[in-house]
Amino acid sequence: MLIIPEDVCAQVVTPEAAFTAVEGVFAAMARGDARNFPVVREALGHADALYGFKSGFDKVGMALGVKSGGFWPGNMARGLTNHQSTIFLFDPDTGQLQALVGGNYLTAIRTAAASSVSIAHLARPDAKVLGMVGAGHQSTFQLRAAVKQRAFEKVLAWNPHPEMLPKLAAVAAELGLPFEAVDREALGAAADVIITITSAFEPLMMRDWIKPGTHVACMGTDTKGKQEVDANLLAAASVFTDEVAQSISIGEAQHAIATGLIREGDITPIGAVINGTQKGRTNADQITVFDGTGVGLQDLAVAHVAMRAAQERGLGSRATL
Ligand code: NAD
Repeated sequence: MLIIPEDVCAQVVTPEAAFTAVEGVFAAMARGDARNFPVVREALGHADALYGFKSGFDKVGMALGVKSGGFWPGNMARGLTNHQSTIFLFDPDTGQLQALVGGNYLTAIRTAAASSVSIAHLARPDAKVLGMVGAGHQSTFQLRAAVKQRAFEKVLAWNPHPEMLPKLAAVAAELGLPFEAVDREALGAAADVIITITSAFEPLMMRDWIKPGTHVACMGTDTKGKQEVDANLLAAASVFTDEVAQSISIGEAQHAIATGLIREGDITPIGAVINGTQKGRTNADQITVFDGTGVGLQDLAVAHVAMRAAQERGLGSRATL
C-alpha cells in the first residue's frame, strides 16, 4: 500500500489534471461506465460535525474506493481546515488496499474542478465578470480554477462574514484581477458567472437579482437542509448537476423539487453535455445552474491521479497492513 500525504497530493495533482480527471469521470458516469454508491452523511451529535462516506467504482478508470470524512465547523478556530477527509483506493481485481491518500487538498481541488468544468461547458463564452459568494477555505480554489475558463476582467464578492474577504481579494490580486466587495444585489446585477460556496441553510441569492445569461455554480449545498439560492432561480433556469440522485436529495435542487417548482426530469447530468448526448446552453439569455453536490467518483478520480503520479516519481511511502 502506498501512503500519499497531503503535501505530495498538492505537489503532484495540478488544477489542470484535476479538471481533466473530473470532466472525464462526469462523462463516464453519464455513459454508465462509473457509478457512485449511496452516500452516508450523518450529524455526529458531537463538535457540530457532519461525518460520512462517499464511494464508487469507475470500471474504465479502474478506480474503486471510499472517501471518509466530513465537516468540523470548529476546526478553523484551532488552526485546522473545517473539512477533513481521507481517501482509500482499492485494487478492483483483488479488493486489496492500494493507497491511503490525504483527502483535504484533493477535496478542494476536485470541487473547484467541478465548477470549472461547469463554466467550461455552460457559461457564455463572452463572460467577463465573476461573482463569488463565499470566502472560506474552498473559495480561493474555486476562484483559481474558474479564471482559467473565461477571460474574466473583474471579480465581485460577497460573504456573510466580510472579515473573511481579504483572503479572497489577495488571490484575485495574485491573479491580476480587480476585486470589489459588493452587496448581493449588485453582485447579481453585474456577474456573468456566479459561484456560491458557503455553508448556508437559507437562500443567499434571489432569483430577481440574477440577470439573463448568467451561469450559477452552486457548490456549497451538499447536505439535506442546506441552501444557497432561491428555489425560484432553479425554476427559471436550465439545471445541470454532477449526479441527479444527489441533486434532488442533498443538493441545491432539493428545495425546488420538494416544493414542486421543478421535476427530477428537468435536471441534466453535466456528463451528458460533455458527451454531447444532451444540450447545454442553447442561447445567450438562458440562465444555467450547476448543482455541484460533490460525488465520491470525483474524489477517486483525483486520488487515482495522485497515486499514479506518486508511483511514477517515487513519492509517498509504502506500508503493509
Ligand atoms: P469554510 O468553513 O472554510 O467557509 C464557510 C463559508 O460559508 C464562509 O464563506 C462562511 O462565511 C460561510 N458561512 C458559514 N456559516 C454560514 C451560514 N450559517 N450561512 C451562510 N454562510 C455561512 O468552508 P469551506 O471549506 O469553504 O466549504 C464551504 C461549503 O462548501 C461547506 O458548506 C462545505 O460543506 C461545502 N463543500 C461542498 C463540496 C461539494 O463538492 N459540493 C465540497 C467541499 C465543500
